[in-house]
Amino acid sequence: MNKNFGLLVNGKWLKNKKTIDIFNPFDGKKISEVSSADSNQIKDSIKFAHSAFQSWSKTSAKFRSEILKKLFKLTIESKDSLSEIITLESGKPLEESKAEVEYGASFIEWAAEQALRSEGKLLESPENNKKMFYIKRPVGVVVAITPWNFPLAMVTRKVSAALAAGCTVILKPSELTPLTALKFGELAVKAGLPNGVLNIINGNPKLIGELLTKNSLVKKITFTGSTKIGKLLMKDSSSTVKNISLELGGNAPFVVFADADISNAIEGFIAAKFRNAGQTCISANRLFVEEKIFDKFLKKLVVRIKKLKIGNGFEKSDVGPLISEKAIKKIKNHIDDALSKGGEILIGGKKSKIGKLFFEPTIVTNINKSMKIFSNENFGPIIPVIKFKSDDELIQLANDTNYGLAAYFYTKKASRVWKIIENLEYGMLGINSGKISSYLNPFGGLKESGVGREGSIQCLEPFLETKFVSWSYDD
Ligand code: ADP
Repeated sequence: MNKNFGLLVNGKWLKNKKTIDIFNPFDGKKISEVSSADSNQIKDSIKFAHSAFQSWSKTSAKFRSEILKKLFKLTIESKDSLSEIITLESGKPLEESKAEVEYGASFIEWAAEQALRSEGKLLESPENNKKMFYIKRPVGVVVAITPWNFPLAMVTRKVSAALAAGCTVILKPSELTPLTALKFGELAVKAGLPNGVLNIINGNPKLIGELLTKNSLVKKITFTGSTKIGKLLMKDSSSTVKNISLELGGNAPFVVFADADISNAIEGFIAAKFRNAGQTCISANRLFVEEKIFDKFLKKLVVRIKKLKIGNGFEKSDVGPLISEKAIKKIKNHIDDALSKGGEILIGGKKSKIGKLFFEPTIVTNINKSMKIFSNENFGPIIPVIKFKSDDELIQLANDTNYGLAAYFYTKKASRVWKIIENLEYGMLGINSGKISSYLNPFGGLKESGVGREGSIQCLEPFLETKFVSWSYDD
């Protein structure tokens, strides 16, 4: 696989001498390299996407839907090769990569179907000889900037809805995991997307970000990644008042009430915490356990965690490596900070011997609100556990964060469920379930977790403008 993968601009694969190296997080070995775009190529991608928009936006929804259906089929047919690339460049277990291909493909199929259902509305006019209505139009050239933790699904959730709506796209995948996106680009070309409708560029994120956000031909930025970069993109997009959707960091509480089914709660927690080694924005970041079952629950959790197999994603493991040295450093910093403020390690607490980027699943107790581990996303296999006594105390603690993406809670008591649904300040809730991801989920968060929603029955909406018409006539 060791070759130079190009940029996709106006239907052509361009190769540059300047490249970015791509590494396997399992052993740190170089896998391949991708071409790094220069300023002119970045500007060209905008120009070509703008010119392709003039025709793509006028195609019928049926035509766009048919191409997306072909792309869905090709994606499913390429499940093996795509999942191998995902594991190779992200390190996640192969079974998770296969699940990601199915999840990612579901957004393409769903967008193909929703393209056919886009509609305007004729309103009941208050005057004779006057019609009032609105129609929906695609916003224009869309820039999609995606992260490394779901190298396929974050691409398909954005790109397929944008294409279905009639927009053209410039995709900038993460420089850590661009190979999956490039393979997706190959499939899109094969499915029959006209030149310039989907362009894929890699390179210096700062340079690309600046050129794309400040260009007035780009009408929309859709971003998934850190809150820090989300804020920067929002600021830079303000000079041209772009339409913007942001899906940023989380700090998900996972709550176990005393009346919960403990075995289910443990399995739900393992899924929500250890998927992709804790590197998902909806990962369970803080574990809250009601006082009455605290010791019993932790005992069982430790037994369950010890059964997890840590290792190479290609060798039937449950937990893979972290993505980078930076990620390991961040976790260590969170743990040191917690220990210096009275935290205690129940299990784990250090790097694993398996490899440079592996960290042991870790439980930290005796947590207080001043610790970084309480207020920040750790994005790794680290579990701060917090004891609570009442529903009200739990609601207050769970909401004590700047983030509001996902939250999970386990209880059998129906009267409590509604109170928690209403009071937890989060965009997505899992009740007695550690899995909330679906093409049906309007994915997104409150507070500093972002702006807007992706997927769901309204998946085309972020890529459409509403045009109102008031039409008077004489005869
Ligand atoms: P993380 O810290 O988890 O890697 P980032 O927010 O840095 O998350 O990365 C998410 C995406 O944002 C990646 O595609 C990355 O290349 C891109 N990115 C990073 N910095 C910038 C920037 N200054 N402008 C535009 N995109 C950026």
